Amino acid sequence: MRQSKLFGKTLKQAPKDEVSINAILLTRAGFIDKLSAGIYTYLPLGLRVLNKIKNIVREEMNAIGGQEILMPALQPKELWEKTGRWTKPGKEVMFQLEDRSGKEYGLGWTHEEIITPLVKKIVSSYKDLPLYLYQIQDKFRDEPRAKSGLLRGLEFSMKDLYSFHTDEKDLEEYYQKALKAYQKVFKRCSLELLVTEASGGSFSKYSHEFQVLTPSGEDIIFYCQKCFYAQNKEIAKFKADDKCPKCKSGKMAEGKSIEVGNIFQLKTKYSSPFDLFYTDQNGKQKPVIMGCYGIGPSRVMGSVVEVHHDQQGIIWPKIIAPYQIHLLMLGSENELGKKAKTVYNKLLAQGLEILFDDRLDISAGQKFADSDLIGIPYRLVISNKTKDKVEVKRRNEKEVKLMEIKELFKKLTSEQSDK
Ligand code: ATP
Ligand code: MG
Repeated sequence: MRQSKLFGKTLKQAPKDEVSINAILLTRAGFIDKLSAGIYTYLPLGLRVLNKIKNIVREEMNAIGGQEILMPALQPKELWEKTGRWTKPGKEVMFQLEDRSGKEYGLGWTHEEIITPLVKKIVSSYKDLPLYLYQIQDKFRDEPRAKSGLLRGLEFSMKDLYSFHTDEKDLEEYYQKALKAYQKVFKRCSLELLVTEASGGSFSKYSHEFQVLTPSGEDIIFYCQKCFYAQNKEIAKFKADDKCPKCKSGKMAEGKSIEVGNIFQLKTKYSSPFDLFYTDQNGKQKPVIMGCYGIGPSRVMGSVVEVHHDQQGIIWPKIIAPYQIHLLMLGSENELGKKAKTVYNKLLAQGLEILFDDRLDISAGQKFADSDLIGIPYRLVISNKTKDKVEVKRRNEKEVKLMEIKELFKKLTSEQSDK
């Protein structure tokens, strides 16, 4: 992509109405634009990152048997009345509206009320189970404090998977599989996290949250400094400096964290109100046992920025960076331009993702600053000083190397194939 044509602009100053690091850096670097508190447009750079995160999630959900669907965001009130969630917590969290005839709807903030009757239409026998369905869709929530950029949106991206089983043992096995798949997702996104026990609602002792320790987090968790057992403060029966209840030797510490994922054993909580039954091998009717599994790709994007940045800007992990290479052309002479374009085209032909700063009216200093702000893993510079070579620097390192173009191609393409 030629930067001269890229839709989006870098800003020297932090926007006045943002306080969180992720919103400040993503706005300054031209990834997102704020429409209103908690509501953002993803500009071309931002959408590339969001889509890469969604694809990682998609790959890991497919790997545990998930089938992707897409359910409506606009949902009739009657379905929500069946579970009582139209009023509680619907009245607080759900955007509720009417059509011209006065029929009431809500905007989806979760999808149990939609998927359970959907599955009832198709599943009737033990032979139809187990079943794993997911979607990646924007959810809507009337959040009281939408001040944390992508971490807390009124409209935000969520992957929600729902599993359907004949019995609790099968649910438990799949739950453990999903837990591992979640760990893979976050590891691939370079987020270190603590699998944290949290409230399981009325049907299960615990749910599990995937918590990223960072000062900007809105949750508080206790975690063992030795075995990393963790519990959300909301349910914990111990305090900081207590002995770990799990390994019995480590000490519990208290920390702020961001919840990037949450998995639940719903059991019959939703199959009961919707009469979702199956017929077992003996012809007996039994309730379907359910689980649900959520990840917020947009919150993951914000969390990565909270964790991976420095004074100059974002430091994207390679796998979700908008581009792998930022090629800077310094100076505007014809020969130089030709050389930079040749390098750009050759790298493109190798299948590498490159942002080419071909802007003519921008100073070298500004190009360097923009490159650090945007945070692409490799910076390549072609200038009068580099002569026949290319200057190479990684965003997360200080060292600058001059390399032969041939040598550089070899290095980059071999790294590409390692991915
Ligand atoms: P929180 O306690 O932070 O409000 P939650 O527990 O209500 O979140 P879930 O219902 O478990 O959230 O949603 C599943 C996932 O969706 C969360 O783990 C998070 O990654 C994401 N998510 C939830 N609410 C938001 C939001 N307002 N903005 C961005 N992502 C969100
Ligand atoms: Mg949660």
